[in-house]
Amino acid sequence: MKKTCIVTGGSSGIGLSIVKLFLENQYRVFNLDLAPSEYGEFKACDVTNKKQVGEIIKTISDEYVIDVFISNAGIHFSGTIEDTSEAEFDRVFNINVKGAFSAIQAVLPNMKTNKNGAIILMASDQALIAKHNSFAYNMSKTALASMAKTTALDYAKFNIRANAVCPGTIETPLYHQAIDNYCQRSGADKHNVHAEEAALQPLGRLGQPEEVAELVLFLASDKAKFITGSLQVIDGGYTAQ
Ligand code: NAD
Repeated sequence: MKKTCIVTGGSSGIGLSIVKLFLENQYRVFNLDLAPSEYGEFKACDVTNKKQVGEIIKTISDEYVIDVFISNAGIHFSGTIEDTSEAEFDRVFNINVKGAFSAIQAVLPNMKTNKNGAIILMASDQALIAKHNSFAYNMSKTALASMAKTTALDYAKFNIRANAVCPGTIETPLYHQAIDNYCQRSGADKHNVHAEEAALQPLGRLGQPEEVAELVLFLASDKAKFITGSLQVIDGGYTAQ
């Protein structure tokens, strides 16, 4: 029987690679995203809308055993604490943190009933280290690492595992947007900034979304059944420095 996986933010970047890889591995995949996608079973969803997230996940839960939930939807935001308005702070936290909270709360009853489940939160290397001009984003990713750990402890007795994936710089539309914003602000040349970013990584290149998807697939599988409450770094060596 096919396993069922729900992914948020599966229409682009890392999420899209996850959807494709899980489909290739015979999962039934539901993609909850604002933007439509032809991959998986698309459900139009704004993760900041707790009621909508709850209703969509309840509909899926009523029909299927949920084996895997991946909270991946997220936005980047650059700025120091002084640069960040209350509205910008709320937006980052509503998408990156409240979105994960709402969806995990909604999948847990199904996973508890079946005494089985793998939850994966897309955090960041910024759950472990700080970067310049990243006040709200950094805090939001640290919060996700905490959510993975507390959820792992509280639900281990139901055989539900929760882990956070901490990617370094991965070449996705979100990355390109962040670089574009920086170049617009500073007047820097995009080609040079991109080359500098790659040179900052010990492996000398940026990560690819497919590489993150492989780690997520492993964490979701029974091969990882003793791994819970962990922060899994995938960053080309960046945080080892
Ligand atoms: P992306 O912008 O390519 O994709 C993000 C997806 O989330 C998009 O499909 C978008 O429509 C969706 N989304 C945004 N707001 C939403 C909302 N309110 N409701 C539902 N869906 C929404 O980004 P990406 O680079 O693939 O990032 C995916 C995740 O990985 C994010 O949580 C990001 O913080 C994290 N991450 C990315 C990098 C990187 O370098 N790209 C590094 C570390 C962590």
